[in-house]
Parts: sequence; structure tokens; C-alpha cells
Amino acid sequence: MKVNDDNQKNDIESIEYPLRIRAHNLLCLQGYKGLGYTQDFVAHMTKIHSYLNENTATLVKVVIGEDTFCRHCPHNYKGRCTEADPVDQPVPTEAPDNAVLMDRRLLTWLGLDDDTVYEWRQILYKIGNSVDSSAMDVLCGTACPWRDQGHCAEALDVLNKAFIDGELS
Ligand code: SF4
Repeated sequence: MKVNDDNQKNDIESIEYPLRIRAHNLLCLQGYKGLGYTQDFVAHMTKIHSYLNENTATLVKVVIGEDTFCRHCPHNYKGRCTEADPVDQPVPTEAPDNAVLMDRRLLTWLGLDDDTVYEWRQILYKIGNSVDSSAMDVLCGTACPWRDQGHCAEALDVLNKAFIDGELS
């Protein structure tokens, strides 16, 4: 491993290791193109997104609830995503965009367990095996501000094709 690689690894591991990522953000990372809520949020997500792309054996703890990205998000109120989830109601609300419900839906869809560590490549394999853009109506809720850009649909179809072509393991 080169010195620069070591620095990058130490930087990522200083955040938290295994990386803590909430389930629905596993999907959001696929088509991520540097869009986000604040400069700090984008810088943090870009760093992790790049690292995962280059290091597919990275360990990720998949969780329902607050993750490493939420900690840089202006909508995070004491660990709760308030974007589609008013703080005066019990968690989770019934809103289709409730972050906790989105996490649960994706875990069930992928057959992954909450609070469990996987290699990033195992997660890519699971997503490629069972998700393409047609699943987004179920998995992404109704109000994601980035869906209309089309990057997520494109990335999920590319990953699905890679699975079909036997390029994931
Ligand atoms: S459309 Fe939104 S919720 Fe769905 S994967 Fe993309 S960023 Fe995530």
C-alpha cells in the first residue's frame, strides 16, 4: 500500500470503522454525484464515496437510523431525520419518505440484517442482484430531491447489468 493510500485509509478509519451507514444510504451512494445539503455534508460524503469505490473490501456496519452521513446533515435532530419526519410525532411516522421506514424497506428487500457488518462488495452484490431502477418507486419514497436528476436510476441499472454479466463477486 502506498503512503497516500495509507493516509486515506487512516482518514476514513478515524471517522469510525467499520463505517456506519444507514440502509437506504447504501442505495443513495450508487448514483452519488456530489449533490447534498451543505458543503460539509458533500465533502464528507464525497470522501467516503470515493474510498468505497476504490476499496470494495471496506467494512460497513449497516444500520437503521443515524449514520456517518446524518452526522453531517442539517436535518439531523438528535439522531432523527426531520426532513420528512416531524419531531412532535413518534418514530417512525407513516410517511413514505420516513428515513427509518426507508431503511427497513431496503434491508428487507436485500435480505440484509440491521446492525451487522458486511464488506462493501457484498453489499454491491446484493444490490446488483435484486435492485434496478424499476425498484425505486418502492425503495426511494416519493420526495427525494435528487431522483429527477436520473443519476440513481442510471447507476442502479449499471450495477444490475454488472451482476447479470457476472462482474460482481
Ligand atoms: S433517488 Fe434519492 S433516495 Fe433514491 S437512491 Fe437516489 S438519492 Fe437515494
